[in-house]
Amino acid sequence: MSFMLWRQRLSKLVDKAKFFCLDILFPITCVGCGQETDWICQSCRVDLCPNLFQYCPACGARNLSGEACIACATNSFLDALFICFDYSNQNIKKLIINFKYKGAFEIKRLFIDWLIDLLYTVLIPNIEIDKMGDIIVIPVPLHRRRFIQRGFNQAELLALGIASHFSMPVKLNVLYRGINTISQAELSIEDRKTNIQNAFFIKNHSQVVGKMVVLVDDVFTSGSTMEECAKALKASGASAIYGIVVAKG
Ligand SMILES: [Zn+2]
Ligand SMILES: [Zn+2]
Repeated sequence: MSFMLWRQRLSKLVDKAKFFCLDILFPITCVGCGQETDWICQSCRVDLCPNLFQYCPACGARNLSGEACIACATNSFLDALFICFDYSNQNIKKLIINFKYKGAFEIKRLFIDWLIDLLYTVLIPNIEIDKMGDIIVIPVPLHRRRFIQRGFNQAELLALGIASHFSMPVKLNVLYRGINTISQAELSIEDRKTNIQNAFFIKNHSQVVGKMVVLVDDVFTSGSTMEECAKALKASGASAIYGIVVAKG
């Protein structure tokens, strides 16, 4: 057995031992009912109610495709927006808060599985087989300073999981956030648009030309962040942008 294989196995064992100790010291409890099982137990999971509808990214009108309505088509750079859950679902909200702000990274596995299931339903059947190789996955980036503060980009963790499942390339060296904007969560819908305007730029343009981009984030609120990302990617030659998020705020 090669040294690298031994090293990988040892590292997995160390991880298992680490999580075993953490589970004893800080048991994981269901965000719904408090049972010591998982971040969400099987019965609370059944009650989660994934979205049966999608929404126009511009005006929020319900539809099945996630595409902009005819009247909104010129107001959105997203070709479609796919959403797993509504953020008003308290258990989803708690899972996102635990994942994003309380270091519960393993919750990403749940989110990735839901995002993958959604892509199988709404996107994959609509892409011709010979066009599958033109899809790339890009996370909504954090500004470098915010990334250093938080230590990770939640959208990047989700994008890596999706890309790995579908064997799609994930591009982390293309879309950048150039302005350290005020957190969108603190602003009104109108102020969010101004705050985020032109905040993103593209490097390595050739990697997006003619590509269909699966643009990943955790939460979609006013849509200004995703729209600005989609605008920058389209300006660099991307052929289509499909936004996908765990929840709509
Ligand atoms: Zn439960
Ligand atoms: Zn609309």
